[in-house]
Amino acid sequence: MASGQDHDKATRLFSLPFSLFIGLLLDWKSGVIAGLFFLFGGLWLSPDLDTRSKALKRWGIFQGLWWPYRKLMPHRSVFSHGPIIGTILRMTYLMGLICLILCLLNPLGLSSPSLAIKSISQIIQKYPHQALAMILGLEASVWLHLIKDGDPLPTEWRYWRRR
Ligand SMILES: [Zn+2]
Repeated sequence: MASGQDHDKATRLFSLPFSLFIGLLLDWKSGVIAGLFFLFGGLWLSPDLDTRSKALKRWGIFQGLWWPYRKLMPHRSVFSHGPIIGTILRMTYLMGLICLILCLLNPLGLSSPSLAIKSISQIIQKYPHQALAMILGLEASVWLHLIKDGDPLPTEWRYWRRR
């Protein structure tokens, strides 16, 4: 299993080639977005948010927001380290937190969660290539993480394979 430092180094190293690849595949704006979300996915939204990791520490004073996630997700389980499902659950968790914060701040005049969700869906419809690049960037960073860990299959999957 790779250390946090190895994951960070690999994420930084592969973000530019990945950005160029998506730029050639879609367009240059999407390439830049894919590279940035690859970095965000690898450095902040890492599968290792399920444990006390460098990615978790990077959230600084907000790392407490990931405490429920850390308690719910067993380390290296299919729910944090599973391809696709890990990204979906982390994004759902993050969106849920943002909605909760917006609900709490709504009396102060901030945007309501339903308005924020409507705006996000309008942006996705208006910029489908960039939205796809964002998802590809996040998911590709997870695959790099799993490959660097040496066994791309989460703990449960290895258990099932042995039976
Ligand atoms: Zn990991």
